[in-house]
Amino acid sequence: MEDEHTPAGARPGARNRRVWFRPLLAIVALAGVVCVRSVAAEWHARDAQAMGTTVRVEVWHEDARAAEAGIEAVLAELDRVERLMSTYREDSELSRINRTAAQGPVPIGAELADLIARSLEFSDLTGGAFDVTYASVGHLYDYRSGIKPSAERIEQVLPAVNYRHIQLDRERLTIQYAREGVTIDLGGIAKGYAIERSARMLQARGIRHALVNAGGDTRFLGDRRGRPWFIGVRDPDDRSGLVAKIPVSDEAVSTSGDYERFFDRDGERYHHIIDPSTGTSARELRSVTIIGPDATTTDALSTSVFVMGPRRGLELIDRLPGIEAIVVDREGRLGYSDGLEEPRPVTDE
Ligand code: AMP
Ligand code: MG
Repeated sequence: MEDEHTPAGARPGARNRRVWFRPLLAIVALAGVVCVRSVAAEWHARDAQAMGTTVRVEVWHEDARAAEAGIEAVLAELDRVERLMSTYREDSELSRINRTAAQGPVPIGAELADLIARSLEFSDLTGGAFDVTYASVGHLYDYRSGIKPSAERIEQVLPAVNYRHIQLDRERLTIQYAREGVTIDLGGIAKGYAIERSARMLQARGIRHALVNAGGDTRFLGDRRGRPWFIGVRDPDDRSGLVAKIPVSDEAVSTSGDYERFFDRDGERYHHIIDPSTGTSARELRSVTIIGPDATTTDALSTSVFVMGPRRGLELIDRLPGIEAIVVDREGRLGYSDGLEEPRPVTDE
């Protein structure tokens, strides 16, 4: 089990946070993020399925009914966002837009318009590495069935991958795609957005210590009552092994990995993070973990840095105040942003 004490040297919130290193730590992993559970009676936890992934909500409250009501509100919010934005649902607002926006301006709700606008900001920030029109080619892959488009097909559809094709009018609340074949998918940002919103809903209910995890994205409210939460960066080749461990409080953490949705063929891994410049899976990294103030940002940046690769990706993170990153490359080497200290074995503490 996890050793839960906070040794000297762990300084959550300090400018330079120490990364802890613990090979082959045998604790339960939540899609790249490991959360330590408290045994106190005031902690209430729920596991569920939402947004196409496994969700965990943990809430601290003296009043069990208030805690359970908070958890219900979180799950309802995740469902609401999914109904609005999922491209797996024909009846979502985004699916309707994808079907018709190449023909002319179509109405869009303010919330979806805001998140697409946010996505476009990340496209500008990342030199186009983050691009929600990746789906114009991305939807030709089926990772479960091991299907990928031919090189010719990619070449044909790749011109439709470009966030500049999105013409969003936030005053009139309309959206238009500049050409046929453009498809938007918010899979790189919507989960972060949804857990950020639900964490704020918990906050509005007076809850000060909580965690909302959906797949690789986690939002932490407060700390674990006097101690930090710990997140673990998973070994890309070993689901139960960790390569690093970091204390966090009141922050969000997102991990993107090539082990989430993929198939291997001819010595190459085809996975769900697409480099918009090539139309195929980004190849330089195995995993990216981002720590930051809100989950919408960490979700978008984990996908972005995965595409940008270690050098450009960490350069970007070092320019952004309050955001840190740990990357694992194809050789299993770790890279850190400037605000994280190199790891030392925990036994040295
Ligand atoms: P994550 O696991 O947060 O990195 O998100 C991966 C998801 O982001 C994929 O399943 C796609 O839905 C979406 N995605 C893939 N490539 C890109 C990209 N270049 N820009 C934006 N979203 C992407
Ligand atoms: Mg992401």
